[in-house]
Amino acid sequence: MGHMSANFTLQEMTRSQTALRRGIDNTPSEAHIASMKALCDNVLERVRDNFKRPVTVSSGFRSVQLCKAIGSSAKSQHAKGEAADFEVIGCDNLAVAEWIRDNLEFDQLILEFYDETDPSSGWVHCSYRADGENRKQCLSYDGERYAKGLGKA
Ligand SMILES: [Zn+2]
Repeated sequence: MGHMSANFTLQEMTRSQTALRRGIDNTPSEAHIASMKALCDNVLERVRDNFKRPVTVSSGFRSVQLCKAIGSSAKSQHAKGEAADFEVIGCDNLAVAEWIRDNLEFDQLILEFYDETDPSSGWVHCSYRADGENRKQCLSYDGERYAKGLGKA
C-alpha cells in the first residue's frame, strides 16, 4: 500500500469497517488521492509533529456509495478526499482542535461528540482544500446540531 505522506498510508486513509462488511468499493480516484496527500501534509503531519504522538485516523476518504451506507452526506468533504476524522493518542481533543485553529491552514474544523468532562471523548474532523479556498471555519457538533466555535467557548 502506498504512502500519502511520511507517516500516513493510503490504507489508513481509506479503511472502513462498513465498506469491508458490506463489500462496498471505497477506492479513491487519483484526484481524491491528491487531495488526501494535501490534507496529510498540511494538517495530519503537522499535528503529529507538534504533539509528538501518533495520530489515529478513524475515517478519511469515503466513496459516495459508502457515504450513503453510513448516512453521511455524499457532498461531505470526506467524499472528496479533503477531510479526515482523527484523534491524537493521549491528547485532549479540544486541545488538538484549538492548536489546529491557532496554527494551521484548514477549511473546516469540527470538534465532534466532545464532552468536556471527558477529554478523550469525541474526535476532531478537519478538512483542507488544495486549491487554497480554505475558510478556517470552526464548529462543534454534538450529533444533533452544529454550534459556532470549539467546545463550549
Ligand atoms: Zn468527518
